[in-house]
Amino acid sequence: MVKICCIGAGYVGGPTMAVIALHCPSIEVVVVDISVTRISAWNSDQLPIYEPGLNEVVKQCKGRNLFFSTDIEKHVSEADIIFVSVNTPTKTRGLGAGKAADLTYWESAARMIADVSKSNKIVVEKSTVPVKTAEAIERILTHNSKGIKYQILSNPEFLAEGTAIQDLFKPDRVLIGGRETPDGLKAIQALKDVYAHWVPEDRIITTNLWSAELSKLAANAFLAQRISSVNAMSALCEATGADVSQVSHAVGKDSRIGPKFLNASVGFGGSCFQKDILNLVYICECNGLAEVANYWKQVIKVNDYQKNRFVNRVVSSMFNTVSGKKIGIMGFAFKKDTGDTRETPAIDVCKGLLGDKARLSIYDPQVTADQIQRDLTMNKFDWDHPIHLQPMSPTGVKQVSIAWDAYEASKDAHALCILTEWDEFKTLDYRRIFDNMQKPAFVFDGRNVVNVEMLRDIGFIVYSIGKPLDP
Ligand code: NAD
Repeated sequence: MVKICCIGAGYVGGPTMAVIALHCPSIEVVVVDISVTRISAWNSDQLPIYEPGLNEVVKQCKGRNLFFSTDIEKHVSEADIIFVSVNTPTKTRGLGAGKAADLTYWESAARMIADVSKSNKIVVEKSTVPVKTAEAIERILTHNSKGIKYQILSNPEFLAEGTAIQDLFKPDRVLIGGRETPDGLKAIQALKDVYAHWVPEDRIITTNLWSAELSKLAANAFLAQRISSVNAMSALCEATGADVSQVSHAVGKDSRIGPKFLNASVGFGGSCFQKDILNLVYICECNGLAEVANYWKQVIKVNDYQKNRFVNRVVSSMFNTVSGKKIGIMGFAFKKDTGDTRETPAIDVCKGLLGDKARLSIYDPQVTADQIQRDLTMNKFDWDHPIHLQPMSPTGVKQVSIAWDAYEASKDAHALCILTEWDEFKTLDYRRIFDNMQKPAFVFDGRNVVNVEMLRDIGFIVYSIGKPLDP
């Protein structure tokens, strides 16, 4: 029986391994992590992450051929194929701070693999890493290798949170990069054999190591660039009376462009887009490609501009001050169908409004109060206006409170800011909400989910990204 071990039981490691286990009953899959809390959650009925369809998949194979464990060394030493899916955040200090990927977790995983291995291994880069990382990993593994042979493969993950299971079941492509030596090609084939259990052959692409590593960064940069492009257009729409949805529709009909990823919004978030573009920028700079680095930097600058523009619009619309005014924040996750708040635009918008002394009541169906508190009090390296939050209370009149639902968040509020496109925000009883709000009642729709005409008929003053302003 082939044995797989995955180091890192997070948003990628957990779902990816569950889907491999489901489709490959003849393979034993063990997911290991240094976080005891995370592993206990995977071993309970309350999985550590919210992802539609994940519970059902895990239920079918947990205990059969899918296991979660903190006994890292044992499972690594027994495995034939080791996926490494640890976090690779942006470095916060030292050389490359604010741009380069922090490979501390990766390096420690690689050193541990080298220490405990007693047989040949295929080591798979599942995390997103800078191009040429495999070279460094090879050096760590083969130094003092005691005759053990390692083959490094790059197999970046393209799933999107919120649709991870669907993406893993029917991937657009599975990318495998490896060395073009006989042993390298054998390793590529072994990983192909795993995916071949459910992925059609023509969807499995093989490349050299560096192309695979760079393709992941390139894909995220292209996706984020589309969002910044449409968001840049949304500012021009507001200035001219054009409607960004109509523009996106017309532009997306061009088969060379296509309709996906053309929704204007308050900005992109998530743990990947910004970090991977910063990483790309750093790699370009290190290779003396300043102009290319500047090009990609602009994608992030437009994203920051869009978040600031949104905050400024809220404040300027509300008679240039939100001081002491309650604002209902609808949605905190970086997108619908996830509880993940990493780099969510909601953090910057909330901090911007708090900077103007607003009172916030935040509602998100999947994000916990603890998480929101952590996010709003976290000191980020680029945040130079630290906010001192009073303790949160579900019902009180402190500067930030957490609401149990959208109706509580909007009660007595002067405005609502929709920051996540949760489906439930489309079908709220906006008449009831309007009746319970201060007047004039504003809605600032950062995701273009509400029916603007209907809300204006009720009496709301509505701002939607890239749409003609309230007459
Ligand atoms: P995550 O933070 O959710 O999970 C990483 C896990 O690795 C954590 O549970 C952490 O405790 C564990 N870990 C760290 N060091 C370890 C070690 N030495 N030994 C054992 N466990 C260790 O991160 P994630 O969102 O799953 O992302 C993982 C990688 O995948 C990143 O490189 C990310 O860029 C990439 N990626 C993420 C997504 C996404 O949507 N989240 C999509 C594609 C690729």
